[in-house]
Amino acid sequence: MPSPKTKIRIENLSVSYKENRVLSHIHLDIPEKAVTAITGPSGVGKSTLLLALNRLLETEHEARISGKITLFTQNAWQDIHHPHTDVFALRQKISMVFQKPNPLPMGIFANLALPLKLRGIRKKKDVEEAVTQALMQARLWEEVRHRLREDARTLSGGQQQRLCIARSLVMQPEVLLLDEPTSSLDTKAETAIENLLQELKKTCTLVLVSHSRRQVADLADFEYAMPNV
Ligand code: ADP
Ligand code: MG
Repeated sequence: MPSPKTKIRIENLSVSYKENRVLSHIHLDIPEKAVTAITGPSGVGKSTLLLALNRLLETEHEARISGKITLFTQNAWQDIHHPHTDVFALRQKISMVFQKPNPLPMGIFANLALPLKLRGIRKKKDVEEAVTQALMQARLWEEVRHRLREDARTLSGGQQQRLCIARSLVMQPEVLLLDEPTSSLDTKAETAIENLLQELKKTCTLVLVSHSRRQVADLADFEYAMPNV
């Protein structure tokens, strides 16, 4: 069988918060259109690793980062730290879903329309089409189609998390980073998200931090167990 294509290559990545070294000389290839699970005990640096991949880590003032991360996109390797890298565009390509659902304090529709508007997509028909498609893809459409103007915070936890995934999907990311996305959800909501991820990996590269051995066994094509520093 041909080896899977690499989507993200991490070379010699080290991260410190002030004097506290959290990641030390990490090397990892993340294959495209598959689920790579990142595992390991609390505090080992799993969230830090995810945040490094789309440069959200730079928003943490104390973080010092060294090493190289390259993304295979548009048929070429892009160094994410290159001075010409457009960080806004990078974070559209590599989008993040957090442990706790974080809908914006506005309507369900507006939560998805906002990132489109920020990217300059304003034509009503285009916005409606993209929002509807993302909600369908996140398997939320049937539950919200008659309440699109209601505040997103009125949704259940599981629905909020699918909304956050839809908010990422609306920008058509190439990579989705998921930091323990089901750990605050009940079993039914967890199953809904897991089914969604199974479907999504056909089109998107998924990097999933998970504490659940069962979830890793069910979903992951590859596993990276974080080394202790
Ligand atoms: P994990 O996700 O595996 O639980 P984290 O990446 O969240 O691990 O954290 C790794 C270590 O880095 C922990 O010791 C944590 O306290 C520390 N840490 C995380 N974020 C920060 C921060 N913004 N400032 C300082 N230390 C941090
Ligand atoms: Mg974490």
